[in-house]
Amino acid sequence: MFKPSTRHNVPAATAHDVKLHKRASAASGRYPFRLNFYDRPPLLDITLDEFETCALERLRVLSYLESLSHRNLPAAQFATALATYTKEHLPLSSNTARLANLEDERRRDEIGHWVLRLSFSRSPELRARFVRAETALFKHRFESDDAGERAAFLRGLSLDWVVVTDDEKAALAPKLRACMPWSTKDDAFRAESFFKVPWSGVPDLIATRRVYVSAGYAYVPQSLQISLVLQAFSTRLERALEHTARNLPRMDEDERLGPVIDHLAASFLAGVGAGDYAPTESGAAVTAEMVDDVARKHFPPCMLNLYDRLKRDHHLKHFGRLQLGLFLKGIGLPLDEAIVFWRRMYGATMSDDKFNKEYKYNIRHSYGQEGRRANYSPKSCQQILTANQPGTQDSHGCPFRHFSPENLQSFLVDKYRIDRSGPEMRDIMDSVKASHYHVACTRLFEVTHGVKKGEGLGNAESVSHPNKYTDRSRELEKETLAAKGEDVVMAEA
Ligand code: SF4
Repeated sequence: MFKPSTRHNVPAATAHDVKLHKRASAASGRYPFRLNFYDRPPLLDITLDEFETCALERLRVLSYLESLSHRNLPAAQFATALATYTKEHLPLSSNTARLANLEDERRRDEIGHWVLRLSFSRSPELRARFVRAETALFKHRFESDDAGERAAFLRGLSLDWVVVTDDEKAALAPKLRACMPWSTKDDAFRAESFFKVPWSGVPDLIATRRVYVSAGYAYVPQSLQISLVLQAFSTRLERALEHTARNLPRMDEDERLGPVIDHLAASFLAGVGAGDYAPTESGAAVTAEMVDDVARKHFPPCMLNLYDRLKRDHHLKHFGRLQLGLFLKGIGLPLDEAIVFWRRMYGATMSDDKFNKEYKYNIRHSYGQEGRRANYSPKSCQQILTANQPGTQDSHGCPFRHFSPENLQSFLVDKYRIDRSGPEMRDIMDSVKASHYHVACTRLFEVTHGVKKGEGLGNAESVSHPNKYTDRSRELEKETLAAKGEDVVMAEA
């Protein structure tokens, strides 16, 4: 396994650069194909920044893929949603693509894969999830690849498949045909070619009785080749991850990479990739006066819970204020309105003097008007789910993860009118039980917005950011009102 080290004697290097392998960089032609079994560690010099961003790009795609697969979408909808998402976040084009930068795409793909291997080799649970997600991503790419390129890629792999001769095929014809009920025509059988592989390599085909087995070999028709390829991919990856796990203690000595690797694994366990957020049109112009109405109609559970607690107690602890404050900024509450909002919410529990001295500064700070003047972004689901775990007195966090099942159900009944014993509640609680919190949140969005199951926020997108939940909810309201010929009440921008 590779050992990261600071790069020396490379002219353009900085102190933050990382070398992923001791050997010299590969010559051109490192990526002859779009598909990759990731058999060889990269021979590249990369910066720490690339180390992290390539891993995050891939993590986002794997998390998205996981969430799609837990939502039981029809195969075509699944493939379309994944294709759209990967095109945006981790494009990987065929050799025939004219405008793509193939070298760059494949390089980023490879770096991301190898960095995530480090993160996900730490425990059997992480290894299993990583293998499942990576295999599903490979399958998606394999099925959508250019046929000629795919065949050339397979020829280059040293897979232990033996081509069945015509004589053997003729001798076994009745038995082979019996395993191909989908192909009843003589011509189809004649055109089919078969591979012999050790039977242990295709457990899925044996379990579904789709191959003939004799003398320790399974006879696999070409049309089921994908099972062989996927099995080979996942078996190799499993072995490689175990090998990585054995060498991992050496990595822990590296203080620069350790936190990055730990953070990636924590994000994956929480089930969501880093959800980027860019405010949309519908997020513009909310006044302090409007917050109550917007909260009731459009807030996701994490924010509605905070808002209700603030209304009830006239107080929120630090992380709660931060989570809600940045969210409100994201939905379009300007600084002056935020000051009005928070002053009103604290009410008589706080003097003007205390508010001005202690709280106003923090509000201005979060809007980038004090201190470092940084433009702080609203927290994503991943940040809310994984960072600053709430204690018993806190109200920040994600109700799907941090409430007990009983409290969560009561909250959903009370605030979102979900029937406690209905199928929707069952869907939501099943996802929570499986730790797929954002899948539960996506289902809640569908149920409360009259959206077809599987559609999510639109085009099968899962909830990955509270502000996206609210933006989409407001968009849908706008569309509904527009269809009725009415206007949404908006504040002056
Ligand atoms: S999944 Fe995300 S948006 Fe939904 S409640 Fe949890 S943190 Fe909020």
